[in-house]
Amino acid sequence: MHPVVKPALRRGWRDLNTVQFGMTPAHAVTLGPVDTATGSFLDLLDGTRGLPLLRQEGRRMDLPEDHVDGVVDRLERSGLLDDGRGGGEAADALRGRKEVMDRLRPDLAALSLTARAPGGAVRRLAARRGLRVQVRGAGRVGALLAAVLSGAGVGEVDVRDGGCVEPWDVAPGGLPADAVGERRESAARRAVRGAAPDRAVRRTAGAASAPDDPGHSLVILAPRDDVAVHAPDPSSAGALMASGTPHLYAGVVEGTGVVGPLVLPGESACAECLHRERTDRDAAWPRLVAQWRSGRARRTAPACDLALATTVAGLAAAHALAFLDGAVPCAADSRWEVSAPHLTWRVRAVRPHPGCPCAAAVDIGGERASKDAGRRATMAEQGPSSKPCRQGGTARPARTWRAHV
Ligand SMILES: [Zn+2]
Repeated sequence: MHPVVKPALRRGWRDLNTVQFGMTPAHAVTLGPVDTATGSFLDLLDGTRGLPLLRQEGRRMDLPEDHVDGVVDRLERSGLLDDGRGGGEAADALRGRKEVMDRLRPDLAALSLTARAPGGAVRRLAARRGLRVQVRGAGRVGALLAAVLSGAGVGEVDVRDGGCVEPWDVAPGGLPADAVGERRESAARRAVRGAAPDRAVRRTAGAASAPDDPGHSLVILAPRDDVAVHAPDPSSAGALMASGTPHLYAGVVEGTGVVGPLVLPGESACAECLHRERTDRDAAWPRLVAQWRSGRARRTAPACDLALATTVAGLAAAHALAFLDGAVPCAADSRWEVSAPHLTWRVRAVRPHPGCPCAAAVDIGGERASKDAGRRATMAEQGPSSKPCRQGGTARPARTWRAHV
């Protein structure tokens, strides 16, 4: 190991003997007591020295070997230490791609805050390159969301949509103005490639033709149709449910942005659960949905505030990446919603419905961990979620749920 104190965390002395790593409550850690010599020694932990050299340097500073080892061990146990050369073979290969590493350096630093183990951040970043994600819908939300995932290092982002780019599909970071009139799918794929110009071409277009390919780690449903955002049709996710493919909903409806739920088939609430729950609460819900769906096609574009669409794309991408990196984010069993003009995010719980054939409700009693384990492949670097969600109103214990590859 070549220890490096995680550079993502700013360092400050709270007093003569106590160091605080990090500024924000979410990730800050204090360490003490730390004497002056040890404080100076911390500057040597920059990833350029292995342990033997660090012990030598420590001796020159009158720090015995066991003290040096103790400091390194303590930093590691506190989640403050990274390994300048760790992460395994895939990480080594990634480190060899300087242009990729330079582009993703801030993302790597951010990953070091959630991956505690030395080498864990680069391992996760390297794992992203092996993932396949599909985004269905290439409007203001979907195209940008797909580009963000690609830019963040996801190896293959496949966008699906029909028709041609309309002037109102154009969004910064998503479909460009010069794509108007071009096929939506090909324009969105161009945006995806542009976000990660250094990524390898992994598949031919023909190889990615199966619309419900169970090999996707995640499918994101980002419909341009506002009814599909507000009242997602369970039948459109039928194949995803059958194949056990995790999927996430995101979009804008009228003046409201929506992210979620993230559906872990058989384990968290699905679109059918959502529909049944709404029907329980409001007997008129199915009647309204039927009218919205059968309404005449719009002659004009639906309402979709550009800033709101950008916000939704960003939050949905963040939830997607958190999931792909191994956590179960708060979008499972929840819909995050934000409405103009006050723009305060609120979470609405979406509970697994006892009558839903997805059977997620059966597992609420804690039997989920073993269920369906066999039908899901294991993603090499994905670990169990570290914490149950505290904010989402979904106090489900952390489980060892893993994604498709
Ligand atoms: Zn369900």
